[in-house]
Amino acid sequence: MRLKEALALRPEEVKALRDDLKKRVEAKKEINAYVALDEAGEGVPLLIKDNIQVKGWSVTSASKILQGYVAPYDATVIEKLKAAGLAPFGRANMDEFAMGSSTETSFYGKTLNPHDPERVPGGSSGGSAAAVAAGVAIAALGSDTGGSIRQPAAFCGIVGMKPTYGRVSRYGLAAYSSSLDQIGPMTQNVEDAAILYDIISGHDERDSTSANIDYTPVAPNLDATRKLKIAVIDNYVKDASPEVQKAYETAIEALKEAGHTIVHKELMGAKYDIAAYYIVATAEASANLSRYDGVRYGNRAQDVKDLKELYLKTRSEGFGEEVKRRILLGSFVLSSGYYDAYYLKAQKVRHLIKDEFEKVFEEADLILSPVAPTPAFRFGEMADPLQMYLSDVYTVGVNLAGLPAISLPIEKTAEGLPVGLQLIGRHFDEQTVFDGALSLEKAVCYN
Ligand code: GLN
Repeated sequence: MRLKEALALRPEEVKALRDDLKKRVEAKKEINAYVALDEAGEGVPLLIKDNIQVKGWSVTSASKILQGYVAPYDATVIEKLKAAGLAPFGRANMDEFAMGSSTETSFYGKTLNPHDPERVPGGSSGGSAAAVAAGVAIAALGSDTGGSIRQPAAFCGIVGMKPTYGRVSRYGLAAYSSSLDQIGPMTQNVEDAAILYDIISGHDERDSTSANIDYTPVAPNLDATRKLKIAVIDNYVKDASPEVQKAYETAIEALKEAGHTIVHKELMGAKYDIAAYYIVATAEASANLSRYDGVRYGNRAQDVKDLKELYLKTRSEGFGEEVKRRILLGSFVLSSGYYDAYYLKAQKVRHLIKDEFEKVFEEADLILSPVAPTPAFRFGEMADPLQMYLSDVYTVGVNLAGLPAISLPIEKTAEGLPVGLQLIGRHFDEQTVFDGALSLEKAVCYN
């Protein structure tokens, strides 16, 4: 059932829906998309990524270090959901502290891709995407710092949307990289994504980075008939796998047929995006994760002789390997002597990336881009961390520039794996992002 239909149900029908969903989650347990099936309230059930605070829930960012922590308050997005008749229903698996592209780093074990159990669902919001794709969640919330909503959506064949930075409150989201993080909807189709996006968006005094601007709801104004100018990035696509290139061509043809105008553009992309992102993100992460010290939150190491050993042991035992790698990398790029060469330089590159996008938007309403270089890869295939980082090449630039983007399924490969593409829009122009996506969805829709 789609979110739109579920929101129109009567209370007793919602109850039946929840009971039915519980059975389905149980029947598909092996996917490991839910780390817990908790209920908070009685509304339309929504799956919540395990890094968003739900009062009374154990919320752990899929980390050992947060085992035992109970959220003392609701995130702003959760308050908004509850006010709109939705109710948190289970916590979704994810990469530990949202660091990763495969959901393999979770303390709770990996999540399987419903299209092929030997492949990853993507990450870090892999549990949210797999659950929606497998029919064990109507819709879900994810978070996107460098692609974590869009890439798992593409790997699992669902819709995932990252709002403009500042559009959705981050109050109650476990911070990974605060200048990049955004919460967003993960749904079965574009219209549901617009509905959920409207529910969670808007200014919030409790998040100083939330934008204090007027908000016009998108879903009631959806218009797939607008004729848009859409930029295609030729130099981006040539490095993607043949399956992704083919989907790109399919989408371009479909967009032309639907009456949109295609303009050809180039972006410097790849090399610079990845380098700037992994410096900014790890630098901010190293600061944000310093709060997990065994004193204030969750797990505390036992049998220690002094405070220093408490910190050391708690953090050594509590964090997984990838999180430790990033804390080390982030501390290094911020350290004196290296700060100018790495962190400051990355900030400058970030500005160039933003300027470049803005230039394209002088001539185009939207940009069509791959989400990932390949369809879902196999477990263990990206054993080298750097190789995994490089697979984020098409998503991280959007976060560095703070732009809104939506990932939607275009077609399936011969092996039956979904291929998704993204439409990127101007700051705070989510309406155009959704309108373009709706038009593309209608034109290519395979499910
Ligand atoms: N894969 C990217 C990373 O590991 C993005 C993660 C995210 O968006 N949370 O940092």
